[in-house]
Amino acid sequence: MIKENLISVENKIQEACLRAGRKREEVTLIAVSKTKPIEDLKEAYSLGVRVFGENKVQELADKYDALPKDIEWHMIGHLQRNKVKYIIDKVSLIHSVDSLRLAETIEKEAAKHNITANILIEVNVAKEESKFGLMPEELDEFITKVAEFPHIQVEGLMTIAPFVDDSEENRMIFQALRKLSVDIEAKNVDNITMRVLSMGMTNDYAVAIEEGATMIRVGTGIFGARNYSKE
Ligand SMILES: *Cc1c(COP(=O)(O)O)cnc(C)c1O
Repeated sequence: MIKENLISVENKIQEACLRAGRKREEVTLIAVSKTKPIEDLKEAYSLGVRVFGENKVQELADKYDALPKDIEWHMIGHLQRNKVKYIIDKVSLIHSVDSLRLAETIEKEAAKHNITANILIEVNVAKEESKFGLMPEELDEFITKVAEFPHIQVEGLMTIAPFVDDSEENRMIFQALRKLSVDIEAKNVDNITMRVLSMGMTNDYAVAIEEGATMIRVGTGIFGARNYSKE
């Protein structure tokens, strides 16, 4: 099942790249393994997957311990400040930085480990009340401040688009995130790069790739539907 799913996702990525005139290497597939058992991750690993995304600190730390060390772990979920210390030395990218206070904590913890934390700024492009993320108009001030943090490298932007039936409805959201990143890049701020655009999930990653995504976060499309009833 996971094998067939991976092949199908890979085909769709390649088709989207072709339509957009982009190279396949420009897009990183993050296998979102949240709620899934270790065996599923091991199976994906055996099929070549090396980039996994998780949204809970404890689950990420447990899976980190249980799986090979050549895996890149991405924290994609809302991160509480008091939990940063448990993952700071385990993740290669935190996608979900949504407040200056969280960035301050990441700076402090990264300094303790003498590492540079790579982060994305989560933007609530659609301005949905239920979602985390900075509002687009808050970005300028945030960037000015976070640029001062010596142990943080901003790699780009991330957004979670609304859940829609027709992925075309999210095209505008992806275009808006891309535009924000182009505008920020043009400012040439120290420690701020816009190499990464993390956008697109199972239902809309093809559209996201067409609109410039460099990282797509695909869970259901690889591992099948999640079962939350056990929690
Ligand atoms: C769960 C999750 C995904 C993956 O969602 P699917 O629709 O299963 O692909 C992507 N991004 C974030 C932030 C998530 O929490």
